[in-house]
Amino acid sequence: MNLHEYQGKEILNSFGVRIQRGKVASTAAEAVKAAKELTEETGTGWHVIKAQVHAGGRGKGGGVKLAKNLEQVEEIAGQIIGMDLVTPQTPPEGKRVHQVLVAEDVYYPGDNEPEEYYMSVLLNRATGKNMIMYSTEGGMDIETVAEETPHLIFTEEIDPGAGLLPFQARKVAFNLGLSGTAFKEMTKFVQALYTAFVKADASLFEINPVLKTSDDKIMAVDAKVSLDENALFRHKDYAEMRDIREENPTEVEAKAVGLNYVDLDGNVGCMVNGAGLAMATMDLIKQAGGEPANFLDVGGTADAKRVEEAFRIILKDDGVKAILINIFGGIVRCDRVAQGVVDAYKNMGNISVPIIVRLQGTNADIAKEIIDNSGLDVHSAVQFQEAADKVQEVLA
Ligand code: GDP
Ligand code: MN
Repeated sequence: MNLHEYQGKEILNSFGVRIQRGKVASTAAEAVKAAKELTEETGTGWHVIKAQVHAGGRGKGGGVKLAKNLEQVEEIAGQIIGMDLVTPQTPPEGKRVHQVLVAEDVYYPGDNEPEEYYMSVLLNRATGKNMIMYSTEGGMDIETVAEETPHLIFTEEIDPGAGLLPFQARKVAFNLGLSGTAFKEMTKFVQALYTAFVKADASLFEINPVLKTSDDKIMAVDAKVSLDENALFRHKDYAEMRDIREENPTEVEAKAVGLNYVDLDGNVGCMVNGAGLAMATMDLIKQAGGEPANFLDVGGTADAKRVEEAFRIILKDDGVKAILINIFGGIVRCDRVAQGVVDAYKNMGNISVPIIVRLQGTNADIAKEIIDNSGLDVHSAVQFQEAADKVQEVLA
C-alpha cells in the first residue's frame, strides 16, 4: 500500500527520523492556517507547498512551490489544490490533487550550502537481505543517475537477523563524504530510518532528497513509503492511511468482494483460481500472441455468485474482447463451476464478448457437456494450449 508524503513522514517522525515538518491542508484557507501554526512552532517564515498525490516528480510538474509570505501560501495552495498534476510518473491526464502539505522551508542560507542526497531502503529478494541504496546525487531522478553515473550509487546489505550494525551506518555517512556534526547526524538518521523500515513492516522507503541543511542537520525532505499489505493487521493506524482516491477504482471494488484483481492493458480478460495458475494463464495468452487484460484470482469458491462478480469486474474494462476462464476443480467440482458460468452469463444478460472455458479436475467431462450444450457464446477447451488458441481464433 502506497502512502502520501505527509503520511510517510508521520511514520518516519514517530521512529525518530528527522523530517522537514509540515501540516496537511485541503483548502487554501486551511493552508494559511497551517502556515501560521508552523511559523509559531518552527520559526520558519517561508513555506513550501507540496501537492499530495501518489506520484513522484511533482517538483517538475509544478506541484512543489515556495511561498515567501501568507498571501503566496494562499495563492499557491489555491492553484495546486484541485489541479490535475501531470508528472513523468502520472498518467498523461494527470492526477487530481485533493490536499497539499504546507512544509517549513529547510533550504535556508547559512554557513554551508544545503546538499541533497538520495536514500532508499528495500528488500533485495535475490540475497534475502534488506538493502540501503544511497547516493550523493540526490534530488534528481535516480534512474538517470543509475544509467549515467552508476558508480555514484552505493548499496549496503543488511542481514535481517543481525540488523543494521553501527559500522554500516558510519560507512554510509563516510561514503556520502560527510564529517563532523553532519557525519554523526547521518549515522543517527540511517539507524532511525532502518528501524522505522523494519518496525513499520515497510516494503519501500525512498527519501529523495535527504537534505543536509546549511547548519548540518540531516532530514527527510521527501518520503515515498510503501507498506506491506499483508502486515497491515499489525498496524491498524496505518491501515487507515489508505487513500482509495489514489487507487484503481475497479481494483478497489474487486478487493471489497474478496477478488484478487490487478488491472492490465491487454484485451483478454482472465478468470482463474489460484495465483500460480493465473500467472501461467497470462503467460500462455502472451505466448499465443494475445495480451492479458487483467490478473484475476477468484480464490477457492468459484460458484455462480462469485463467477458473476468476476464477470462484472472484468467487463468494466472496455478493452476486453474475450474472456478466458481457466479453473482447476479440486475442492470445487467442475460441473458446479460450469453451471455457475452458464447461470452467471444468463443472469448478466449483457455479455457481448466470447468466452472460452477450460475446466480441469473433478467432473471435468460433465462440465464440458454443460458448456457445450448451453447454446451460449461460450466455448469449452480441454488442453491449456487449446484454450489459448481458441482465444486467438475468436479475437481474429
Ligand atoms: P518530488 O518532485 O515529487 O520528488 O518532490 P520533493 O519533495 O522531492 O520536492 C521537489 C524539490 O522541491 C526538491 O528536490 C527540492 O529541490 C525542492 N524543495 C523541497 N522542499 C524545499 C524547501 O523547503 N525549500 C526549497 N527552497 N525547496 C524545496
Ligand atoms: Mn522527491
